[in-house]
Amino acid sequence: MLRIGLTGGIGSGKSTVAGLLAERGAVVVDADRIAREVVEPGTPGLAAIVDAFGESVLAADGSLDRPALASVVFTDPAARARLDAIVHPLVRERSVQLIAAASPDAVLVNDVPLLVETGQAGTYDLVLVVQADLETRLARLVERGTSREDAHARIAAQATDEERRAAADVVLDNSGTLEQLAEQVDRFWQEHVEPARG
Ligand code: ATP
Repeated sequence: MLRIGLTGGIGSGKSTVAGLLAERGAVVVDADRIAREVVEPGTPGLAAIVDAFGESVLAADGSLDRPALASVVFTDPAARARLDAIVHPLVRERSVQLIAAASPDAVLVNDVPLLVETGQAGTYDLVLVVQADLETRLARLVERGTSREDAHARIAAQATDEERRAAADVVLDNSGTLEQLAEQVDRFWQEHVEPARG
């Protein structure tokens, strides 16, 4: 099994690269997606959150009301820690299941937004960093519905591209077209994934 840690700043194109790698046969473990799945209606995760924070964090349809929960934990570090103590073990457990279910010669891609910030680079065979020009990222985030101010603030709170590059084995540049990105992913696959699989 080849374990690839995929990271990059918000709006750099991590999910897009993960999708391109999946098309080439990689098994993608997306921590954000798993974090949503483990609190879907009917899950023990959602029940634990309601136990901890009350019914006010539920939307009318019984799903998790994320803005309501965010407003509870935003200003209360102890509440944030309680939430993390519920969600993180569930995400870890699900990730371990997915990894165990993958075949021994699988190429596993973990999409980890804060890989560098949380010092996880050493846990992967390869660290793949996606970057794009600041203006390009801002434009893409705004197009996706984030306000420019919010996008700026989120970018400022993360590691810099330079810090990410220092931890990277390979850097992909996503300032251009999707076609140009796909070519880089192909090259990455040929030069780094295929040789490692023997
Ligand atoms: P986040 O950190 O918010 O999860 P991300 O790093 O996973 O973001 P993506 O979701 O892959 O980034 O890309 C951000 C947005 O930019 C998406 O709407 C995506 O469709 C778009 N996008 C990504 N790459 C390109 C590209 N080369 N050309 C045009 N649009 C792109």
